[in-house]
Amino acid sequence: MSASLARKAADAGAPWGLAEFSPAPAPCPASVWQYSWTVTLTWRGLEDSPSGAATESRMLVDDLAELHRIVERASCDPRIADVHCERHAALDMAMAPTGCHVCGERFAVTRPRQWWRVCSCGGHWVYACAACGADQVYPRLEKSCP
Ligand SMILES: [Zn+2]
Ligand SMILES: [Zn+2]
Repeated sequence: MSASLARKAADAGAPWGLAEFSPAPAPCPASVWQYSWTVTLTWRGLEDSPSGAATESRMLVDDLAELHRIVERASCDPRIADVHCERHAALDMAMAPTGCHVCGERFAVTRPRQWWRVCSCGGHWVYACAACGADQVYPRLEKSCP
């Protein structure tokens, strides 16, 4: 009886508590990991190269559809001997937590302990509140995160 009353009270209190203390929930990995690619084309000879000075030309691409187009075109071009792609990943920190979601401590005032958690999605920053010890991760952990 008392247990169920306590649970009812907790349920009623939860939404208010969350709205009061937590800022926006952490975004999912896919929305904050941004990818770009360096494409290196190796031309068969200097006379084939657009620059005429080096047999390699390099470009930076940040759009996946454009990357596909470039690689497809280069793969069919007899003047090009090799196509090499290198991926760069950058984590957009614009929505990183600015305060503790449990006690409301602001990270600008009390620096949290912070470390990097390696993950197949790209990785996560872990923030441990210096005031209450609560952890939060950015971006949030998905079901596919080990
Ligand atoms: Zn805290
Ligand atoms: Zn992950």
